[in-house]
Order: sequence, then C-alpha cells, then structure tokens
Amino acid sequence: MLSTRSGKPREKNKISLTSLLTGLVTLAVLLTSTILLIASYESKKQSLIETTMHLNYSKAARISHTMDSLFQSMQSSLEYNAGMLANSDTMMPEEVDRYLEVLRNSSNYFNSISLVNADGVVQNVAPSTLKTAGKKLTSKAGLEALALKAPFISAPYMTSTTKRLIVFMSEPLISRDGLYLGILAGTLYLQENNVMNLMFGNGGIDEMGSYYYIVDSDGHLLFHPDITRIGEDVSSSQVVQKLMDRQSGEQQTLSSRGAEMLAGYSSVPANGWGVVVVSPADVMHKQLVSHLRTIIWYTLLPFMALLLGVILLARRLAEPFVSLADLVNKVGKEKVKLPSAKPHWNREADLLTNAVYLAVSNIQKKTDLLTQEAATDPLTGLLNRRTLELTLKEWIVQEHPFSLIVIDVDKFKFVNDTYGHLTGDQVLRHVARMISSSMRPDDVCCRYGGEEFVILLSRTKPEDAFIVAERVRTAVENSNVPIPTRVTVSQGIAHYPTHAGSREELLEKADQALYLAKSSGRNRTVVAEE
Ligand code: GH3
Ligand code: MG
Ligand code: MG
Repeated sequence: MLSTRSGKPREKNKISLTSLLTGLVTLAVLLTSTILLIASYESKKQSLIETTMHLNYSKAARISHTMDSLFQSMQSSLEYNAGMLANSDTMMPEEVDRYLEVLRNSSNYFNSISLVNADGVVQNVAPSTLKTAGKKLTSKAGLEALALKAPFISAPYMTSTTKRLIVFMSEPLISRDGLYLGILAGTLYLQENNVMNLMFGNGGIDEMGSYYYIVDSDGHLLFHPDITRIGEDVSSSQVVQKLMDRQSGEQQTLSSRGAEMLAGYSSVPANGWGVVVVSPADVMHKQLVSHLRTIIWYTLLPFMALLLGVILLARRLAEPFVSLADLVNKVGKEKVKLPSAKPHWNREADLLTNAVYLAVSNIQKKTDLLTQEAATDPLTGLLNRRTLELTLKEWIVQEHPFSLIVIDVDKFKFVNDTYGHLTGDQVLRHVARMISSSMRPDDVCCRYGGEEFVILLSRTKPEDAFIVAERVRTAVENSNVPIPTRVTVSQGIAHYPTHAGSREELLEKADQALYLAKSSGRNRTVVAEE
C-alpha cells in the first residue's frame, strides 16, 4: 500500500520529488559552476601572469633605458671634464677644487669626484670633507683604472677606510700632447642618496608588493629596497644569469626567500648592469580570489532563482501524485467522492490522474454492486437475513427502541404443491411487493427465509406496529395474486425493549406470537405477551 503524506515510518527512507529535483539541479549547477570557475581561474591566472610579467618587463626596460642614458651622460660628463682639466695648466689647485665642487653639485651624478695624478696620488677632491687629497690611491678599482688608462666602471666594492659600498667610474686625463696625467674619478655611494635614487625613487615596495633591483655585470646587487642586501652576490639566480649574458625578457622565478615571483628584466648596454622588476605571485592569487568571488556573487542570484523555480515546479509536479496516493488510500476504507478531474499541465501526471480516477470510479461501482448483492435477497429484492441480523445487533447495541413483525405466508406448501415451485416464487415476490409497498422509508423489510418475512419498525410502539401489520395483512389478503387461490399471511409482533432485551429472545417472542396467530386460525396478527 502507498504511504500517505501524514508520515508513515516507511516515508523516512524515501526521497521526495522536490528533494530529488532540487538535489539534481544543485548538483548540476555546482558541477557546472566548478568547471566554469576552474576554467575561468586558469585563464585569468594565465592572463594575469602574462600581463604582470609584461608590465614588469616594460618597467625594467624603461628603467634600464633611462639608466643607460644616465650612465652615458655620466661617462661623457667625466670625459668632457677630464678633457677640460687635462688642458688647464693655468688652473691653481684651489680653482680645481672649486671646479670639482661645482661639477659635483651641478650634475648630482657623483657622490664624490677626485682628480688623481699618474702616480696615483689624489690631487683634488670634492667634497673636501673627504680629506683624501694628497693621499695615494689604495683601492683595487682605483689602481686598475689608473693602469687601464681608459674609461672605467668598477664592480661595487667596500672601501677600506670609510666602509662604504661604492662604484668607481673614471676617465683618463690625457694632455694635448698625448701625455697620460692620471684620471678623473667619480664615485657612487650605493647605500646612500645617489643619482639612482634621485631618478628612480628610493626603490620601495609598491602596494602590489612589486619592486625592482639592479645588479652589476658580475651579479652583485647594486640597488635593492633592502639596502642591507646591496653588494650581495645574486649571480646564482636564473634571471641574473640571463642579465649577465646581456639578455632581456620575462620569466617566473623564485625569490631568495623561495616565494614565487613574476619577473621582467632588462640589461643596461652602457655598463652591463641589469634591472629586474618583480611582483610576488601571491598578489595575483589574491586578485584571482577576488575575481572568483565576483563571479560567484554574480552566479548566486540566478542560481537561487533557479532553485526556487525548481522547488515550486517539483512541488506542483508532485502534487497530483500525493493527492492520488491519498485518494487510493481512502478508497479501501470509505466511500470516496471523486473530485472533478482537472487537466494537469504535465502529460504523465494528467494520464495517471485520469487513469486512477477511472479505476477508482469502476472499483466503487463494483463495490456498490457487491455490497448491494450481499445485502439483498435475490428472489424478492428485499434485504436478506444477514442484513436483518446486523441491523438488529446495531439497534440493540444502540438501545434503539423498535417493533419487530414476523410474517409467514399461510399454507404455502399447498401453493407450491398445487401450482409448482416457480409459481410459488411468483407468489413470494408478490407478497414481498405488498409488504414493501405498505412500509415507510425508515422501516427495514427482509426476507427472513422460505416464505417468512421480518419487518423492523424504528421507534414504533407495539400497538402502532399492530396497525402497520394489519395494513400489510389486509393488503395481501385483498391483492390480486397470480393464482386462483386467496393468499393470506399470519403475523407475530414483539417490541424491543418491552418484550425482550436480546435479539434471540425478541425473535423467539415474535415467533411465539406468530405461532399463536397460526394456531388461532391464521390470517391474523398477534402481539407478544408482556
Ligand atoms: P403454515 O400455514 O403452517 O405456515 O403452513 P405452510 O405450508 O406455509 O408451512 P411449511 O413450513 O410446512 O411450508 C413452507 C413451504 O415453503 C415449504 C417449502 O417448500 C416452501 N418454500 C420455502 N422456500 C421457498 C422458496 O423459495 N420458493 C418456493 N416456491 N417455496 C419455498
Ligand atoms: Mg414457515
Ligand atoms: Mg407458512
């Protein structure tokens, strides 16, 4: 049997159409969204990586280009001034000092400028606070430049006296007659304010975590947001190796702390240095997450609307099935009044509703017929003995007062014997018609067996029952029976609860009255003794 909506235990393990459809749609949407999100994540990630590396490369190229110009200017400034100084035989040492001071302050190219003679003795220096004038050059770079007698840029190195990390640049001083007089040298203090900070900013880390650093041709850091790292050898880095090979480009790499970085790098032709602009990849992840969050927000609303639609649809789909189940459930228990079948928009639900309604209505018709057949006597159409017994039982249980009349056809054996059994049946049917035509709608008329009938008269006193019985008796007596002989009946009456308190006793009393009627001459009515 189908379980009803009103929660039978079996229903616990069942899945409802609403849950099923909602679940399926949710699953489908989740799967699709996941695939879409993954695809979108991957493509966005790729494009972000490419864009970031591209941007970093352009930035590195811009810085390197500027730096190239800067170093060319620095070198040509040194070259020009070296030419001027080499041929200024008339200048006094103080004038040279002032010249160098003006040179240093006007261009801001160098942190210090020195004029060194061919023996390596510093002649003049700006700023004069350095107090190196008159001292001999000791640094490896200085000596190398002096010996080289040609334009020179050193690798960064730590000075022994001032403990400064510097880059040393120089131009030879050649007199008009080709005599080598020494060098004009400029230095850059890498870890202090210098021309590079002036041009490229102080190289901090921007809000995206991006920053740049500069390496020299040997892979040493010349410039880095973390000034303590300046001078560090980073030549093991893949990007730096490429720069040492004078290549430019972009690439994913790892920072010294092992973090994933997106790098753009460009080498500087003038000095063989390289600029690297890097962005941490995790900033990109944050952007991706916020991108995904936006997508999720945008998909959430339509998804909710879809889900709501599906729930409503599923409910409307399930409605006919649930109400049909309820209907079928009731059919076995009570007489069901079929509601008028409304056409359903779902074809299957419509088919099922029509089929079930047809089946239920057929079953009810058959049941009605069977119930009717089970309750009536086939020969006369009156109620049968079984129904009588049920009614008696019911009325007695309810203590419902009534009179009972037993009717017996007189000398019926004679009718059968004289006119035959079939004619006897016709007479029985005739008597039954006479009885039922004398009855009120609430009275219960039965064929009790053979040629005996019983009438139950609800809420009727014996004296009133007697009147009814007499009406039946005279009606039969005076009726046109289908045989030439007159047909009469004898009747016994008993009243519940006046004459008896039980069914058996009541029938017994009525039978006794009937016996009296028979024995006192038939065709009469006798009421039981109190
Ligand atoms: P009394 O006046 O004492 O009642 O005499 P009676 O002949 O009517 O009584 P009895 O009980 O001896 O006979 C009843 C007869 O009714 C006997 C039986 O053959 C007949 N009978 C019982 N049922 C049917 C039936 O369904 N059809 C026909 N035709 N006869 C039946
Ligand atoms: Mg009899
Ligand atoms: Mg009889």
